[in-house]
Amino acid sequence: MLTIHAPIDLVMAETQCWNCKASTPVSSLRAHAVTGPEGNSVEGVRITNAADLPADLKQAIHAVNPNFRKGFSRTAEQTYFANHCSHCGALQGDFYMYMEPDGPFFAGTVPEGATTTRLFEAGDWQAEAGYGS
Ligand SMILES: [Zn+2]
Repeated sequence: MLTIHAPIDLVMAETQCWNCKASTPVSSLRAHAVTGPEGNSVEGVRITNAADLPADLKQAIHAVNPNFRKGFSRTAEQTYFANHCSHCGALQGDFYMYMEPDGPFFAGTVPEGATTTRLFEAGDWQAEAGYGS
């Protein structure tokens, strides 16, 4: 279990869908800090591979990005909250977004034209999720 600390931002960018090749919006959830199960804290992280998220956090994300929902990733072989193509519904996996050189948020970068929405100014949340910088 991960504890997520506000401020929490949602960064929106465009990427090309691997399936239908259309341009689709995708988002990256960023937190001021997280505290891991062993009590270690890390600042300035993105939340990834979330198996579950608190209801108010889900709601706030959905208000900005309705295509962020639970889906099964064949690459990760797990069900988690991921971006989906706004045209064909194909899952845009976290691995592609963050780990592939042509992914929109590769290695913690934020692409040109991205917009950031502050979701929460204060608060802590418990989530079943991973994180990365
Ligand atoms: Zn598509």
